[in-house]
Amino acid sequence: MSTTSQSPKYGFTTTILHSDRQKEIEHGSVHKPIHTSVMYGYGDARDLAAVFQNKQSGYRYGRQGNPTVSALEEKISKMEGGLATIAFATGMAAIGAVFQALLRQGDHLVSSSFLFGNTNSLWQTVAGQGVDVSLVDATDASHVAAALTPATRMVFVETIANPRTQIADLKKIGELCREKGILFVVDNTMTSPYLFQPKVVHAGLVINSLTKSIAGHGNVLGGALTDTGLFDWSAFPNIAANFRKQPAKMQGLAQIRAKALRDFGASLSPEAAHQVAVGAETIALRMDRECANALALAKMLAADPRVAAVHYPGLPDHPQHVLATELFTAYGALFSFELKPEIDCFDYLNRLKLAINATHLGDTRTLVIPVAHTIFFEMGAERRAEMGIADSLIRVSVGIEDTQDLLADFANALASE
Ligand SMILES: *Cc1c(COP(=O)(O)O)cnc(C)c1O
Repeated sequence: MSTTSQSPKYGFTTTILHSDRQKEIEHGSVHKPIHTSVMYGYGDARDLAAVFQNKQSGYRYGRQGNPTVSALEEKISKMEGGLATIAFATGMAAIGAVFQALLRQGDHLVSSSFLFGNTNSLWQTVAGQGVDVSLVDATDASHVAAALTPATRMVFVETIANPRTQIADLKKIGELCREKGILFVVDNTMTSPYLFQPKVVHAGLVINSLTKSIAGHGNVLGGALTDTGLFDWSAFPNIAANFRKQPAKMQGLAQIRAKALRDFGASLSPEAAHQVAVGAETIALRMDRECANALALAKMLAADPRVAAVHYPGLPDHPQHVLATELFTAYGALFSFELKPEIDCFDYLNRLKLAINATHLGDTRTLVIPVAHTIFFEMGAERRAEMGIADSLIRVSVGIEDTQDLLADFANALASE
């Protein structure tokens, strides 16, 4: 398991750029090399046995760990200020791992009504497998508090919800979980560790879809689960005796690595780990530009009489604008908006020349999608209404294009109406 080494107090980007060179440098290689071997040979069979018995550290088999993937895991730990990280093949695999490894039949999970669509779908699966799930409006911690039962093992929220940008009451939920000794899991994908470290609000586990802002270029999938070191695993009832032999701080991730990564096998490939690591080097530069572009575009659309609503935490009338200002270093690269009923959202999207009709977010290119008709179609009209998703809602994931080009594209598509 790769844990973070004490590094000098460098800034965010300096730390990412140089993290591969803080341990042994193979052949002077500046990038961590891509190690493709699935198996690891030992000169002394006793060493192999010691590795299997957790008496000695070392690699065994590619599904459970790989040096290139470990280097990325360390990088993510440093970005999140966490203790240790496990990488997965996708963000969903990282979320699935939390439930597979840590929840048992009869346990209770509290999560948000405003969730990434596939996570919402996953909680339905979880509910069908005997875990009781409560979905509450997590923009107010009192709803979370009211849903807690003696069987509640975990509270799981996102930072900024996609596509309506509701922001969870992160500080108060964190305090509540700490007070009650409940594991607080935060999906940080929408903010990324560049805008926010969930450790600050006392999250025990942090999820990142590496596919989004961290890799950033829409060319690789990945996910990560980081232990912040703040949760007391010795008091968590679902740790099996085998993992209790580990130091208390490592018990959660030790069980997740074995029971979820090893047994379900959604491992990140070393080639993908390398691509994510290269993408991550520029996350600060990309997100500064994306967030500035998003704010400019959201402000322009909010001022246009042909636009019915704009949902972006950077706008002063957003319900959680004050909280976002307090917690995040910027308001994110994603917003959504509704056109006035006389404008057909498909016609509008088809008039955009730069923005691409595509599902994905956190990319260098600006992407747009009619939410109700695509990513939130499967859940049905009733659930969409509960989540505040209008039929005309357009989600925009803002890229790094030159600001004036983007503003012109969205303005021209309105003007030619
Ligand atoms: C995309 C996303 C995921 C899933 O990540 P994948 O890498 O696509 O599996 C999870 N949570 C949030 C908030 C996301 O935006």
